[in-house]
Amino acid sequence: MSDHILRATAASGKLRAFFADTRDTVGEARRIHKTSPVVSAALGRLLTAAAMMGLDLKNPGDLLTLVIKGDGPVGTVLATADGKGNVKGYAGVPYANIPPKPNKKLDVSGIIGTGTLNVIKDTGIKEPYSGSVELQTGEIAEDIAYYFSQSQQIPSAVALGVLVNADLSIRRAGGFIIQLMPGAEDSLIDFLEDRIRSLGSITTLYENGYKPESLARELLRPLGCKITDKIPVHYTCNCNKERVKKALISLGSAELNKIADEDKSATVNCHFCSRSYKFNEYDLRNLAR
Ligand SMILES: [Zn+2]
Repeated sequence: MSDHILRATAASGKLRAFFADTRDTVGEARRIHKTSPVVSAALGRLLTAAAMMGLDLKNPGDLLTLVIKGDGPVGTVLATADGKGNVKGYAGVPYANIPPKPNKKLDVSGIIGTGTLNVIKDTGIKEPYSGSVELQTGEIAEDIAYYFSQSQQIPSAVALGVLVNADLSIRRAGGFIIQLMPGAEDSLIDFLEDRIRSLGSITTLYENGYKPESLARELLRPLGCKITDKIPVHYTCNCNKERVKKALISLGSAELNKIADEDKSATVNCHFCSRSYKFNEYDLRNLAR
């Protein structure tokens, strides 16, 4: 199986975890959005986090959206996932670029800048839940961990990584989220953080041949790791002409007639997949009625 997420528990259920391999998903995002390497890394990390967090939604049809609004060159970065491993996203300025850090790593925090991380859970019925935190580092993993501790009171260890080839294709992408359940000792998180530090970055581990399963077993080994689920992950956009029509109708008759008068047609591009939907003057007048 290519891209997938493992769900695991350890320490007699006091700890739960997600381990993700998202290389093809991030590769598809790069293909669609033509992102620069550093934006591939930023968007890829956010897509990976969203895909894992989506699996925690109550209903598989619910949607989880992560929005990073920073003052850096990339602008807004957004990823949205359902509870079934479908994820999609976009970056405000996909071609934004800055030099790597002195340690040669892609400067994700530099491209994002300072700002906020917003987490939205939409069940489609009630008002969506929305929680927001200030970005701590702009490296995304730390910001997600901070969100879990501040908004959810869940101590968490989060790792996200994307490694980009010289030809701009995605070499490695993935991450994990490990969380303490209520009643777990705080010392567990210290133990885990030590273990994570000693193992190294997620992309290095994948580069060295680890897969989500072997990584889960290695990282959680002393705690009795139990893998409970394996979920395929895909970059999926479910846009279609009917949805785009609805969005156009929401502009109102006056605006639609104005577009029909002035432009004689309209082209709507999907933010997530770049598919374009064309409407001629007749279509626009029809939607305006
Ligand atoms: Zn689309």
